[in-house]
Amino acid sequence: MIIEELTESEKQYYYMEQCHQWVDEQSQVLGRPLKAAVITFGCQMNARDSEKLTGILEKIGYEMTDSETADFVIYNTCTVRENANTRVYGRLGHLKMLKRKNPAMLIALCGCMMQEPEVVEKLKKSYRHVDIIFGTHNIFKFAELIYQRITEKKMVVDIWKDTEQIVEDLPNDRKYSFKTGINIMFGCNNFCSYCIVPYVRGRERSRQPEDIIREIEAAVADGVVEIMLLGQNVNSYGKNLEQPISFAELLRQICRIEGLERVRFMTSHPKDLSDELIQVMAEEPKICRHLHLPLQSGSTEILRKMNRKYTKDDYLKLVDKIRSACPDISLTTDIIVGFPGETEEDFLETMDVVKKVGYDSAYTFIYSKRTGTPAAAMEEQISKEVIKDRFNRLLEEVQTIAAKVCARHEGEVQDVLVEEVNQQDSSLVSGRLSNNTVVHFKGDASLIGKIVPVKLESCKNFYYMGQM
Ligand code: SF4
Repeated sequence: MIIEELTESEKQYYYMEQCHQWVDEQSQVLGRPLKAAVITFGCQMNARDSEKLTGILEKIGYEMTDSETADFVIYNTCTVRENANTRVYGRLGHLKMLKRKNPAMLIALCGCMMQEPEVVEKLKKSYRHVDIIFGTHNIFKFAELIYQRITEKKMVVDIWKDTEQIVEDLPNDRKYSFKTGINIMFGCNNFCSYCIVPYVRGRERSRQPEDIIREIEAAVADGVVEIMLLGQNVNSYGKNLEQPISFAELLRQICRIEGLERVRFMTSHPKDLSDELIQVMAEEPKICRHLHLPLQSGSTEILRKMNRKYTKDDYLKLVDKIRSACPDISLTTDIIVGFPGETEEDFLETMDVVKKVGYDSAYTFIYSKRTGTPAAAMEEQISKEVIKDRFNRLLEEVQTIAAKVCARHEGEVQDVLVEEVNQQDSSLVSGRLSNNTVVHFKGDASLIGKIVPVKLESCKNFYYMGQM
């Protein structure tokens, strides 16, 4: 067999076989099965990538565990915030100690943090106990990199600056049997001035619609009823394809899949959320009644500095359009407080949008300088005291409004997708409405993965207590 003649996924399955033989030999020597742990930091994109890493490790013959005392430990890293890196270095020190006790242990690092050249140089110099380092663009090569490490017996470093390549049909092990994330595209071309993602996830590239449909059909055949379509900015889906297709058109095709009950998606950038998409959301009942629409700031001047490409008015007009087409939609958002140069007037603009929109919930962040982004070099960094004060005022406003907005469905009967037995009270189960609000009600584990009608009896600020 000539490896070069194989497709990329065939090649990777070949390396999985080779690694499996090695794992079998090791477990015979140790007289026990080998264990592996995938530790995930960061966003849903990373969580989905970790399901792929887990699928490959299982295919190679490892048994999965959550414990870092495993024989193979991989950190899927995040680098959105400066302190995320510090935490990883700290934990690598702990792994060094564990490796002294288990010399057969292998340690791997991947994810966004590895796309930073200075990080990789530091790891190569001061963390020689790490065995494999790769980035966000070549996750599909995981088995080949493990094979390289076990055959060459030295640290393997394989970081790609960028890629056009998307490799399909590799193993993956979903965290949930009834729902899953589906990548529709990778990378981001927006270059918001505070964000490191475009530098570590590369340029936008979309998967072929037929590959996405095929993956969803296979997941539905395997028991999935709800999917989350993932992309840094799903609105840009399809633009780089030979036959461009809009995100709205892709959604229509996905909603035709038999057995699929619910479709969610994130993240939708306000700058290019199309009328076509709003129309599809209004017409397709499978599309969940929840939209995450990051605002970041309500001040047009700060939005300009953030390079967000929309104004306060654009955003409010868009919300009106969405609300008139989908009156029952729940809106959530992301807001950054303390961006360089933010004045009290700018902050009050943000508070004004929060009052006008009435979000079901909002992720509020204190601006964190991220080396390597244009914003990090900006003058007028705001003092901690001022940021803290604004953050607390914003949080109070958001939570007060959210508690009222969230309660609008009290007394109604709505469908809930049951996700788990309640961790605090095992006589209850917990699930989500189409608008993503959590509901707890009497039930048992046999309901997990099922969509059941529940009477929403009382709203407790951000969740409901109900009765099936
Ligand atoms: S849209 Fe902006 S904030 Fe989102 S990933 Fe891209 S650059 Fe970052």
